[in-house]
Amino acid sequence: MSWRATILTLYPDMFPGPLGTSLSGDALARGLWSLDVRQIREHGIGRHAKVDDTPAGGGPGMVLRADVLAAAIDAATVTNDPRPRLLMSPRGRPFTQADARLLATGPGVLIVCGRFEGVDERVIAARGLTEVSIGDYILSGGEIPAMVVADACVRLLPGVMGAEASGEDESFEKGLLEYPHYTRPREWEGQAIPDVLLSGDHGAIARWRRAEAERITRERRPDLFTAGE
Ligand code: SAH
Repeated sequence: MSWRATILTLYPDMFPGPLGTSLSGDALARGLWSLDVRQIREHGIGRHAKVDDTPAGGGPGMVLRADVLAAAIDAATVTNDPRPRLLMSPRGRPFTQADARLLATGPGVLIVCGRFEGVDERVIAARGLTEVSIGDYILSGGEIPAMVVADACVRLLPGVMGAEASGEDESFEKGLLEYPHYTRPREWEGQAIPDVLLSGDHGAIARWRRAEAERITRERRPDLFTAGE
């Protein structure tokens, strides 16, 4: 069975969106993963299918109702569904490449996209949701974060990237940012490709790339660099 993503959203028209093109889109067409997008509003309350209400205690904005979200989650999952359940949330643990690797080796993921001020706190523990953030800024909804998480996972699924590009050399995979790349032409606007890359000496090339990756990581992300030591 292929890797399965279920997305719960108030804006299903946003999907597949960018996930339907290029690497992830080709993989979707080839059946290497599947995308099941559910409209939360189908579980809304009453004639107007209400999904949100004003925050208890007052304050601006609206909060997604726990009962509505729980019904949407229950309808989208089978009993003992083994897939991790994520709630996109700026309060969550920052999503990393290691998380993507872990998710990609599992059966798939269920992602709840928040909107407005967020979701009623009670549904988070009651439905076993893990809050995940894609960075320290506020977006208007969880849909783009859900796409970010799905894209990061899908490109790691077996068969999605070419055999030669396993992704093992990429930024974050070894606790380092990636070394610089060059391609033709050999000289461009007075800048030459570093000689070592044209030397044919694979050992020297590997050493140069490692040193450059370390230099760039130390300069730009000292937090990663010390964490890798
Ligand atoms: N009031 C909330 C922000 C709500 S933004 C707060 O201060 O924390 C509306 C929704 O967008 C959130 O419920 C979440 O699902 C999504 N979202 C916004 N920024 C995000 C981020 N950095 N990472 C993940 N999800 C995010």
